[in-house]
Amino acid sequence: MPEPTLRVLLSEEQIQRRVRELGAQIDADYPTGTLHLVCILKGACFFLADLARALKRDAVVDFMGISSYGKGTTTSGEVKLTKDLDMSIEGADVLIVEDIVDSGITLNYLTHVLRQRRPKSVRIAALLDKPERRVRPVEVSYVGFRIPDQFVVGYGLDYGERYRNLRDICVLEGGVPGGQAGC
Ligand code: 5GP
Repeated sequence: MPEPTLRVLLSEEQIQRRVRELGAQIDADYPTGTLHLVCILKGACFFLADLARALKRDAVVDFMGISSYGKGTTTSGEVKLTKDLDMSIEGADVLIVEDIVDSGITLNYLTHVLRQRRPKSVRIAALLDKPERRVRPVEVSYVGFRIPDQFVVGYGLDYGERYRNLRDICVLEGGVPGGQAGC
């Protein structure tokens, strides 16, 4: 099996600059109250950590685990909750923090689940968006980057649990993963 190729799509500098911009936009959009950040495990952890620190406003952080019944590079279409929130979101301004919107199945399901808990508002911040892959409608209020239909790793995104610790976001091209940190 050939080694995979890691090609930088978005550099660490590009990512950090865009996350700071998103933070400023979110600060401006929520002038009062505490923002309830809901991080979707595990891929969004790195984005959450940087976005939360880019905010000047008051915020709390909670985590939700989602499994999409599948390994590899495609979503199977079924979603399961593997870890629920620790805190109530009733009456709260909720911002879902997600790594990437692909088919939209995960976030379509998740927003439905969270809205049933009667928050004041629910919005989505996604670092990456692959709009051409959408099969379910999702309204994403804050998008870091729109990218083409390519499988990416790094900055939290994995392939078989690997590559999350890359500082850049890279396209994984061909072969079996066997690379190292740094694209
Ligand atoms: P969706 O439900 O929108 O199809 O899928 C969302 C999830 O699929 C993401 O949270 C992520 O875990 C995974 N995913 C979608 N596209 C990619 C990709 O290009 N790279 C990686 N590593 N995961 C992806």
